[in-house]
Amino acid sequence: MSERQQESWGQSGRGGPLSVHVSEMPAEGVELSGEVPFAELDIAEDEVTRLPWPVSYRLHLSQVGEDLLVSGRLSASVELMCDRCAEFSRHELSTEDVCHRYENVAGEVVDLTEGLREDILVAFPQTHLCSEDCAGLCPRCGANLNEGPCGCPEEPESSESGEREEGRENPFSVLDGLEL
Ligand SMILES: [Zn+2]
Ligand SMILES: [Zn+2]
Repeated sequence: MSERQQESWGQSGRGGPLSVHVSEMPAEGVELSGEVPFAELDIAEDEVTRLPWPVSYRLHLSQVGEDLLVSGRLSASVELMCDRCAEFSRHELSTEDVCHRYENVAGEVVDLTEGLREDILVAFPQTHLCSEDCAGLCPRCGANLNEGPCGCPEEPESSESGEREEGRENPFSVLDGLEL
C-alpha cells in the first residue's frame, strides 16, 4: 500500500514527472517535495543563464470538493551573467508562496509542470549584478575592472555619439580570448 502511494505522488507517477492523481488523495492532503531539473520544466539555458542545479519544490496538495489546491514554495540556485562585467555568479531564486487551483479535476491526473514553470520563471530577476559595487568592464579595452585597473588613460566622457558607439563594442567578445 505504501509503495503504491509512493508511486502516486512520486515524480515517476503517471503522466508528466509532476503529475498527481487527485482521486487517491487523503482528506488531510499530501505533502509533495523534491527536485526537478529546469529542463523538465521546459526552461532552457541561454547566453546569460546557466542552470546546472534543479528546482526544489515543497508543496501541499489538497482536494477541495472537485478541485485540487496546490500551495507551497519553489527555490533554485542558478548562475547569471553580471550585467556590468559579464562574469557568471550564483544567484538564489525563491518564490513567494505559490498557489494554484485546478478546477473539476476529481478523479483525474493533474500535471503540475506548467504551473511550477510559471512560478519559477517569475522568480528570475530582471537584472543581475555579481555585486552591488561591480566595477564593470573598461569601455575602451574591455578589461574586467574588478580585477584591478586596466591601465587605460582616464578621459572625460566624450559627448560625441560616434565615439560612444565605438566604446560600446560588444563587451562579451573579449571573453573569447580570456582564459580565467
Ligand atoms: Zn559584475
Ligand atoms: Zn581599459
